[in-house]
Amino acid sequence: MKTFELTRANDNTQAVSAAANATTAQQGAEIRFIAGGTTLIDLMKLNVETPQKLIDVNHLPLGKIDNLPDGGLTIGAMVRNSDLAYHPVVRKNYAVLSEAILSGASAQLRNMATTAGNLLQRTRCMYFRDTATPCNKREPGSGCAAITGVNRSLAILGTSEHCIATNPSDMNVALAALEATIHIRGTKGERSVPIGDFHLVPGDTPHRETVLEPGDLITNVTLPPPAPGNRSLYLKLRDRASYEFALASAAIIVTVANGRMTRARIALGGVGTKPWRSTEAERELTDQLATPAVFQKAADAALRDAKPQSQNGFKVELAKRCLVHALKLATQNA
Ligand SMILES: Cc1cc2nc3c(=O)[nH]c(=O)nc-3n(C[C@H](O)[C@H](O)[C@H](O)COP(=O)(O)OP(=O)(O)OC[C@H]3O[C@@H](n4cnc5c(N)ncnc54)[C@H](O)[C@@H]3O)c2cc1C
Ligand code: SF4
Repeated sequence: MKTFELTRANDNTQAVSAAANATTAQQGAEIRFIAGGTTLIDLMKLNVETPQKLIDVNHLPLGKIDNLPDGGLTIGAMVRNSDLAYHPVVRKNYAVLSEAILSGASAQLRNMATTAGNLLQRTRCMYFRDTATPCNKREPGSGCAAITGVNRSLAILGTSEHCIATNPSDMNVALAALEATIHIRGTKGERSVPIGDFHLVPGDTPHRETVLEPGDLITNVTLPPPAPGNRSLYLKLRDRASYEFALASAAIIVTVANGRMTRARIALGGVGTKPWRSTEAERELTDQLATPAVFQKAADAALRDAKPQSQNGFKVELAKRCLVHALKLATQNA
């Protein structure tokens, strides 16, 4: 690991102005915030990230979960994943988020991992983490070893000829289905970004993963009020039962009245280069009866644009089955 300077930020303004001196907030940033450290320290040990300066944001006043006047919820950037998953309001009104978080990592990691850190966790593509191999995300223009290499776990939606890396987060998939908003404080003030616009598909700039600019500090995430009478579920399929990233996952939130789905929000994990909201699937479900045939049509629509690589063609069928099964479980006895 390269040497670095560690400073503690005592307030949000100080954190933003210290980080604003970086030339980028994307891959290779010279200045990084550090929260739980469960992504960043790993990457520093591998020399994939070599920041000269770390700004410790653990003492910022961003650790609270509060109800909003409109019935929604605000979650501070520093709220630990465990605290979020077990919060009574989250368990009652946003169960899909609780389930998604608890399906990830281990209890120890979730005790350290934060909301902002989870939003910004990096791909598990093995070539990204191995500085001896070409990787356009780590080193722009060097090539993509995964396209002709080991790509079984990588993405089939949102890929480009330059990068096929999967966004590995479970939490982000639930946040996409919940239509969360990310709140950012930067050098020009505060702004809010819908989660669908926060992460970027790789295109020809895979090193740019989010809309963040130097100095940008995530302060909180807000959730809209829960849809009345909704049923939700997070289903994660993986190679082993715990401590493993998704090969395919589905976050679903549906409202069913008289056997008909009046509202549907669908997001997929393990298959996209970003948390993958499927408005195509939502359209196939809305105002339709909750039947296996309708679920299958939605799954086919969600995966219509899938582009499998040499080793991950199985994900197309796996993701479809994941979505169909999640819909069956969530709507049974409706
Ligand atoms: C062995 C292992 C297994 C795992 N399994 C899973 C899994 O199954 N599912 C899953 O979803 N995740 C999994 N994870 C990933 C884990 O969830 C993330 O590492 C964690 O959420 C990152 O949070 P953190 O607070 O530790 O982030 P950090 O490592 O502290 O930071 C990550 C990034 O976020 C930036 N950052 C942090 N806070 C802010 C802020 N307020 N504003 C702007 N930028 C900020 C940092 O600069 C850094 O670039 C696993 C991790 C490990 C090590
Ligand atoms: S898939 Fe993306 S992260 Fe993986 S080697 Fe290719 S460019 Fe790098």
